[in-house]
Amino acid sequence: MTSDASPTVMWFRDDLRLADNPALTAAAARGPVVALFVLDEESPGIRPLGAAARWWLHHSLASLADRLSALGVPLVLRRGAAGAVVRDVAASLGAGAVMWNRRYAGAERAVDTELKSGLRAAGVEVQSFAASLLFEPWTVQTGSGTHYSVFTPFWRACQSLPAPRRPLPEPADLHGGSASPASDDLDKWNLLPSAPDWAAGLRETWEPGEPAALARLQEFVSQDLGDYDRARDEPSAGATSMLSPRLRWGELSPFTAWHAAVDAGESARFLSELGWREFAWHTLFHFPNLATENLRPEFDAFPWPRPDEGALAAWREGNTGFGIVDAGMRELWHTGHMHNRVRMITASFLIKNLMVDWRVGEAWFWDTLVDADAASNPFNWQWVAGSGADAAPYFRIFNPELQAKKFDPHGLYVQRWAADASPLQIVDLATTRRAALAAYDAVKRSK
Ligand code: FAD
Repeated sequence: MTSDASPTVMWFRDDLRLADNPALTAAAARGPVVALFVLDEESPGIRPLGAAARWWLHHSLASLADRLSALGVPLVLRRGAAGAVVRDVAASLGAGAVMWNRRYAGAERAVDTELKSGLRAAGVEVQSFAASLLFEPWTVQTGSGTHYSVFTPFWRACQSLPAPRRPLPEPADLHGGSASPASDDLDKWNLLPSAPDWAAGLRETWEPGEPAALARLQEFVSQDLGDYDRARDEPSAGATSMLSPRLRWGELSPFTAWHAAVDAGESARFLSELGWREFAWHTLFHFPNLATENLRPEFDAFPWPRPDEGALAAWREGNTGFGIVDAGMRELWHTGHMHNRVRMITASFLIKNLMVDWRVGEAWFWDTLVDADAASNPFNWQWVAGSGADAAPYFRIFNPELQAKKFDPHGLYVQRWAADASPLQIVDLATTRRAALAAYDAVKRSK
């Protein structure tokens, strides 16, 4: 600890953890710490959180606040435009430094860059750290100095860089100071649904917070990792890590997940799934409008018909008559999660059989997923649509019946989530497939 007793503001964002949190470690090493979280729904371009994400955030903040307060560090909650709020808090405390872990989405980076120069101009030290991605997006470059648009060479390039660092332990010397700024009341943020309270399935499924995240990681690497390659594509197998919301909210750092897997005897496949997360963020970093614009501009010519509202509602509610689609959509509604294979099937069905613009589906997932992620969600929707980076070609149209036979051969997944769904199919697969391929001709012609 240095002799400078001025407090340091630790600005928590998508890093709701104590372990492997380099900004927190640096703040603790400097002296007394004031922990701050800002709910920013005001800065230009910040995407408002979906409803399931708000539920997760509430509980994860409550867990973080409990753990910090046990160490004598209150978590100060504020809402507003983050730049102004952080500046005000730092000024009111006479803080000597502000620390944070980096964010990579366009609007968030703009907030952070402006704040950093404002604080520095006011004589406040600012340090930012790499904590949410294994590889900083600008460090992974092609031979000609550009970013990657194909996964395999991207991942090969990552692997030729220095290996991800070992995770840091929780800071041993973390303590609060005498100043304790006023905090909002978390309950008054109304992040939880009340009228109606639709979150019973989320409560049944999850325990947000760092301790549960670390426990799940340990359970996964000791019990499931060995079978991951074989069973990861079977939605009824429970073979995947279920760590996506933990990584999304930073209850778990990717460095911790990476080394736990490597130490357990690794699974190249699991590590490369973490690589897809890196690739999605690499893509968003270089293409900040990923959620709104086709990565491949020729898709702007796609003649999306006006959506059939009845069919769209049937998709959202899991009433399409295709068992695996309905099971996935119901799993999503109940748990805030959906198995990856089924995410691909339900997304393909929406885009290619119902001919609904991928952005409509992306928005529904954004609202209902507890792991809704600014990079992974639009990246994967564009991947399925064919408009994205290293995407599945548009003409490859998943047949949900064949997919179900292959990945849910005994019907266990459909039985679990959609046993009572109507078998009345809302579209004919062959006809809609032909229509989708005909519409795709417009994209081919515009190239
Ligand atoms: P595991 O198989 O255990 O994988 C480990 C980790 O690797 C995951 O937790 C996740 O962080 C990462 N990962 C795995 N697959 C992918 C992938 N394809 N892209 C990016 N990261 C990946 N993932 C999100 O985290 N947030 C989203 O909003 C999201 N939206 C998606 C939308 C669609 C249409 C599709 C097809 C996929 C989406 N994914 C998203 C990716 C993937 O489905 C989930 O990460 C995965 O199902 C999470 O379950 P798991 O943690 O058990 O995964």
